[in-house]
Amino acid sequence: MKKKLIIFDRDGTLNKDPKGYTHDKSQCELFDDVYSFFSSIDTIFNICVATNQSGIGRGFYSENDMHEFNKEINKLIRLKTLHRGIDHFFFCPHIPSQNCICRKPKNGLILKALNFFKCYPNEAILIGDKIADCQAGLSSGVLSILLNRDSENIDLVNYKDKKLIYCNSLDIKFLKNYLF
Ligand SMILES: [Mg+2]
Ligand SMILES: [Zn+2]
Repeated sequence: MKKKLIIFDRDGTLNKDPKGYTHDKSQCELFDDVYSFFSSIDTIFNICVATNQSGIGRGFYSENDMHEFNKEINKLIRLKTLHRGIDHFFFCPHIPSQNCICRKPKNGLILKALNFFKCYPNEAILIGDKIADCQAGLSSGVLSILLNRDSENIDLVNYKDKKLIYCNSLDIKFLKNYLF
């Protein structure tokens, strides 16, 4: 059976990102609902991350630092759940002025992920904490879920879209409605 794809944003979606540019693996802390999500998600899903990492382009940390941080995320998931963790991390290292095609809200990373997993857009969903994540998903034809854990001031009316769904935690019972 062909696997469906879940595309996660990373910072603020899986791991806490209090000051932005999170990169020190010793400070890698996942949200509690990430563990419950991975505990209950079926292994038939491919799971990947699509993340803007302009901290690399800005020289705040190295690409290797980011890879180490990514490995730490999987280490934590595997430590606390029976899930194998995230299958692949797609990242954009560029700064905005480089005007690349991969920095979200552009959809280069999403298209890359779909291609990598040989998925059609309707076989994938995206989950992210920023409108930019969802814009990247929606412009790729991927159903997109805006995860807003602390109900910050997002103008829901302006971004109303039939394919954009709002939730305030990674609640598997809620998300199951959208997992195909
Ligand atoms: Mg984020
Ligand atoms: Zn880029």
